[in-house]
Amino acid sequence: MYTEFIIIYIGLALNLVLTSIALFFAAKGKTGGKKRGKRRSKNSFDDQSSGVITICKKCALQYDANLKKCPGCGTPKK
Ligand SMILES: [Zn+2]
Repeated sequence: MYTEFIIIYIGLALNLVLTSIALFFAAKGKTGGKKRGKRRSKNSFDDQSSGVITICKKCALQYDANLKKCPGCGTPKK
């Protein structure tokens, strides 16, 4: 009789521990999501420019190497 009750109490205690652990990891997962958002902003920056800069020979303007001509004076890139 008593051993059956003990088993039930142990089961309830385990359930409480498992749910608290699950909640703890769920809270951790939320903070990880914020870090992923920062990575996305970095990727969008990479899409905008190649990181290589060309200097115009005519007006000395520094512009992205992806552009075919100078945005300042319109001189085509060599
Ligand atoms: Zn130019």
